Amino acid sequence: SLKINELCVNCDVCEPACPNDAISQGEVIYVIDPARCTQCVGHFDEPQCVVVCPVECIDPDPDFPETHGQLLAKLARLQKEQ
Ligand code: SF4
Ligand code: SF4
Repeated sequence: SLKINELCVNCDVCEPACPNDAISQGEVIYVIDPARCTQCVGHFDEPQCVVVCPVECIDPDPDFPETHGQLLAKLARLQKEQ
């Protein structure tokens, strides 16, 4: 999963760019749901939130390091939910 840091300016451009609906407005800044962020694996070559964010405040989440295989498995689980 990726994680939004405190430099977020709440501009809202990342939320609609996420293919997994993983981003929402939190209490202070926008937040990424680690259960839904596949780092865009299976959808795009690059994480779309990182591509659109104007202040580069999105980094890998140190609490949720994942392999490519784990991200693909998460994608498969999300697609079953739909
Ligand atoms: Fe959504 Fe992709 Fe950003 Fe994860 S990396 S929050 S899946 S846009
Ligand atoms: Fe925050 Fe960047 Fe998302 Fe804008 S695009 S809400 S600055 S994380």
